[in-house]
Amino acid sequence: MNGYHYSPLGHIEVICGSMFSGKSEELIRRLRRAQIARQRVMIFKPALDDRYGEDEIVSHSQQRIPAFVTRGSADILDHLGDRTQVVGIDEVQFFDSGVVEVCNRLANMGLRVVVAGLDQDYRGVPFENVAQLMAIAEYVTKTLAVCARCGAPANRSQRLIASDERIVVGASGMYEARCRRCFDPEPQAQFAIPLEQAAPTAPTQKPD
Ligand SMILES: [Zn+2]
Repeated sequence: MNGYHYSPLGHIEVICGSMFSGKSEELIRRLRRAQIARQRVMIFKPALDDRYGEDEIVSHSQQRIPAFVTRGSADILDHLGDRTQVVGIDEVQFFDSGVVEVCNRLANMGLRVVVAGLDQDYRGVPFENVAQLMAIAEYVTKTLAVCARCGAPANRSQRLIASDERIVVGASGMYEARCRRCFDPEPQAQFAIPLEQAAPTAPTQKPD
């Protein structure tokens, strides 16, 4: 034993769950431990707008760690340092599908790859990248939030605003964590039709 957990054998760790479940928190915790063990760590996150370059990952509890903002999965390989031992990727569900192969390649090269992301979208449909990464990973951690309605363990992200875009970036006020029972995958209907039009029409009189 060398006193820390870095192993020359690469592997993939997936941290996934709903919004507000502490995924980034757990990612930051693991990467901080690797840094304390003096491993060379690089962290990547996807660009959701025009931002590119140096940035940081911030958890809901304001834990921060420097990260590189990438335009796509190929950027990860382009910017990887020669001696990097641990690669962290946040918001992996927002990367292109090539990220699965990139993670696999890095693990095959002997790197420890820790990814965090949403496992399901606002309809409860799995994000493809995360589903595939869970299948090929050595370690999967499911983080659970607390249901905003009933307090039960929650694994769904309830969208509170009207949009059928798969990705609407935001946090408090736009989404809340819900359990399986309280989750409503089709709340769109209540926003899509103005209330007066949605009122049931009077039944037509049956002709005699
Ligand atoms: Zn609930």
